[in-house]
Amino acid sequence: MRKIFFAASILICLLMCGCSQNNMKEYTENIFAMDTVMDLKIYSENDEALSEAKAEIQRIDALFDRGNENSDIYRINKNKSADVSAETADVIRAALSISDRTGGAFDITVAPVMDLWGFYGNEFNVPSDDELQSTLEGVGYEKIQLDNTNISIPENTSIDLGGIGKGYTSDRIADLLKNRGVKSAIISLGGNVHAIGKRIDGNEWTVGITDPHDKSQLIGKLKISDKAVITSGAYQRYFEQEGITYHHIIDPTTGKSADSGLASVTVIADSGMTADGLSTALFVMGLDKAIELWHGSSDFDAVFVDDSGMIYITEGIADVFESDADYLICKRND
Ligand code: AMP
Ligand code: MG
Repeated sequence: MRKIFFAASILICLLMCGCSQNNMKEYTENIFAMDTVMDLKIYSENDEALSEAKAEIQRIDALFDRGNENSDIYRINKNKSADVSAETADVIRAALSISDRTGGAFDITVAPVMDLWGFYGNEFNVPSDDELQSTLEGVGYEKIQLDNTNISIPENTSIDLGGIGKGYTSDRIADLLKNRGVKSAIISLGGNVHAIGKRIDGNEWTVGITDPHDKSQLIGKLKISDKAVITSGAYQRYFEQEGITYHHIIDPTTGKSADSGLASVTVIADSGMTADGLSTALFVMGLDKAIELWHGSSDFDAVFVDDSGMIYITEGIADVFESDADYLICKRND
């Protein structure tokens, strides 16, 4: 009797699973927000969760967009002291903790330097050393005062969440979709990927990593589920002047494009916000310091491509990384 009951339970379960799988349809959306193209793909019985996800991206964009007069970040930068939403305060708090963790390589106060180089507004210009030095006086994450939801910064300081905002958004979208019962989805916010569950066929998602030396090629692929995969690369935003390339990841100590010997860093983590902040920071830190940080951490793995094209990966993703090129695996006990 017990066996019959057990067999019947399995059959009912299989039928139920089969039914719900059959009702799943693929829904996709392509939107422009946070200065980039975003692709969302979900498997669901209807497109309601997708519409909510789109609205959520637009809501967060409006909160963080430093060019939008109603945004929290605009108000902080303009008034130098502002009461902001608990959400903005939390993201700034998280950004400051990544700054602490990375010895200041991640620093949301690089905003005035980004402006000086013309990355904000795309009117590029190579500043003089004097201009850089005086602008650098306003840079330093320790200048940000955070008292609950009140943020204060000095007169010559401003902030920009460009290095962490997409990762935070991907976390919010992943939570939203899971809360709406979506078990399989993949979102790409300007190349910052967040996988929810597995593919509908039960296999892991495949996420390609762009070759920083040839954007039309991949240097490798990762098989992942329920993870964020976020890349910071010199090839993503740059301009050239007199044969020199200037890119958008700034070393806060020099105010210049980071020149650490790395061409791209991809961070794989449960949290998109952590992956986003760390990918920017590790790029600035360079391979040796980045690996040192990885040795003392347990919340991320990474793929590094250096200026010569050499690939290094951390041990935690050795089983899920594929590449036709040679690569070195950094081990925990090295
Ligand atoms: P990502 O593409 O995530 O590496 O972030 C790059 C963006 O973050 C830039 O476009 C700037 O808005 C901002 N940014 C640049 N350098 C830094 C830095 N060292 N720390 C924090 N944010 C930065
Ligand atoms: Mg980042």
